[in-house]
Amino acid sequence: MHSLIDLHSHTDFSDGTLSPRALVRHAAERGVSLLAITDHDTVDAFSEALPADQALSPGETLTLLCGVELSTHAEPSERSVHLLAYFPDLPPQGFREWLLALQEGRRARNVELLEKLRSLGLDLTWEEVQSLAQRQIGRPHFAQALLRRGYVSSLREAFDRYLGEGSAAWVERDEPSLAEALARVKEAGGLSSLAHPVRITRNTHELETFIADHAALGLDAVECFHPEVSPELSEQLIRIVAQLGLGMTGGSDFHGANKPGIALGTGKDDALRVPEAVGTWIVQQLSGRRTNQEARCSSAHSTKQE
Ligand code: AMP
Ligand code: FE
Ligand code: FE
Ligand code: ZN
Repeated sequence: MHSLIDLHSHTDFSDGTLSPRALVRHAAERGVSLLAITDHDTVDAFSEALPADQALSPGETLTLLCGVELSTHAEPSERSVHLLAYFPDLPPQGFREWLLALQEGRRARNVELLEKLRSLGLDLTWEEVQSLAQRQIGRPHFAQALLRRGYVSSLREAFDRYLGEGSAAWVERDEPSLAEALARVKEAGGLSSLAHPVRITRNTHELETFIADHAALGLDAVECFHPEVSPELSEQLIRIVAQLGLGMTGGSDFHGANKPGIALGTGKDDALRVPEAVGTWIVQQLSGRRTNQEARCSSAHSTKQE
C-alpha cells in the first residue's frame, strides 16, 4: 500500500486531458491520498471533482485541495513565473472574479497567437483549436492542432518552433506581477507556492535571492519536488526554504496526454515522491486558514464586504 501526495495537477478545465472526475478516479487508482487540482487561471474543476471524491469505494480515501496556477511576471526572469495557490475550499468571490480577468487576458493572447500562426502560413482555424479543448484554450491545444495538421511532428517541436517563449509565433500575454498575485492570494486566505522554480533561473544564487525577495512579499512556500527539479536542486531548495522559514510543496504537474511521460503522483520515470511531511504541513496550514477566513468573514459581514 502506498500513499502518494500530488499537489500539482491539471484537468481538461485547462490544458490537462482528464476531466476532474476522471482525474480523481485516476488518483485513487494510483494510490494518491492527497491531491490538489491546480488548473491554469481557474478553480472551476474543484466543484466538479468533489462529488467524485466522495464517491470513491470503501477503503479508498482521497483528500482534495482546491488550487490554481497563475502566470505572472517578475524580474529578472524573462519567462513567465508560475505561482501555485492553494485554498481549503473555493476561494472567495473577489478572487474568482480576478481569475476571470486573467482568463480574458488569455483569450486576447489566443486571438493574437492564431493570427500570428496564420501569418506564418500555418492554416489553422478557431474551430479546429477549440475542438481540441473542453473549456479553456491554452498553448497545448494549439500544439495539438499543429501536430494534427502535420506542421510539426511532436508537441515539443510545436513549442520549440512556434509557441514557446521567444519562438516564431510568440505572443506576450498581459500578466499580473508576481507581487500582485502574492497579495491577491494572501487577501483571499490562500497559500502560495513558487511552481517549478528551476524555470526562473538556473543560477542557484540568483534563485535564492529571488525566493528571499518574494518571501518578503508574502510567498509562503516553494515547489521543492517536481519532475523538472533535480534531486540536487531539490536539496538546495530544501535548505533555502528552511533558512527563510518557508514551506515546501510538490507535485507531478500531470497534464494527461498533453504531457506524455508524466504520471500522476510519481512524475517522470516514477522518480517523484512528495514527502509525507509536505502533505501534513499543507493540510494543517489550510485548515488553520479556513478557521481564520471564517473568523474574518463573520466579522467582515457585519461591516459589509462582498
Ligand atoms: P498557456 O497557459 O496557454 O500559455 O500554456 C502554457 C502551458 O503550455 C504550460 O502549462 C504547459 O502545459 C505547456 N507548455 C509550455 N511550454 C511547453 C513546452 N516547451 N513543451 C510542452 N508543453 C509546454
Ligand atoms: Fe499547463
Ligand atoms: Fe506551470
Ligand atoms: Zn502546471
